[in-house]
Amino acid sequence: MLSYSSPAWYRGNPGVLELENGQLKFVTRSGLVNRKDYVTQSIPLKAIKSMNVQRANKILGMVQKPILVVVVDTTEMSGIPRHEFQVDTPEPWITAIQSGMASQSAETTHSSQPTIVKEVVREIVKYPCPYCNALIEVTSSKCPFCGAPQKK
Ligand SMILES: [Zn+2]
Repeated sequence: MLSYSSPAWYRGNPGVLELENGQLKFVTRSGLVNRKDYVTQSIPLKAIKSMNVQRANKILGMVQKPILVVVVDTTEMSGIPRHEFQVDTPEPWITAIQSGMASQSAETTHSSQPTIVKEVVREIVKYPCPYCNALIEVTSSKCPFCGAPQKK
C-alpha cells in the first residue's frame, strides 16, 4: 500500500500529513513527558471529492506556504467539507493522493465513479483569525473554523 508523509500545518498547528492505509491523516506530536502522536484529522480517500492548490502569497505579515485544499463529500465523512493543509510542496501530495485513490478504486469489486481531481492555482488573501489562529480569507465575515465575527 502506498504511503507518503511530509511536515504540514493544519489550522495553524504544526504536524505531519500522512497518506497511509487509504486515509489522509494529520498527526500532531505533543505531550511534555511522553510525546504522543495524536491523529487530529483523518480523511478516507474515498471521501475526497476534489483537491486544489492555493498560493496565498499576500498574507499580511506572514511568509506563506502553499495550501493543499482537500474537498470532501460530507455524505461519506461528517464534518466540514473543506480541509486546508499547508505544505512546502503540494504537487507531490496531489500525485500521491491521486495514486492512492486509483489503487483503492482498483481494489473495490464494484465499479466506482471516477473522482474528479482538479488543480486550481489562484491567489487569495488570507490572515490568521485573532481568536483561533486559523487562516481565513479577508472576504469572510466570520471565521469558518471558530465562528468568530471578523472585523473589516
Ligand atoms: Zn477563528
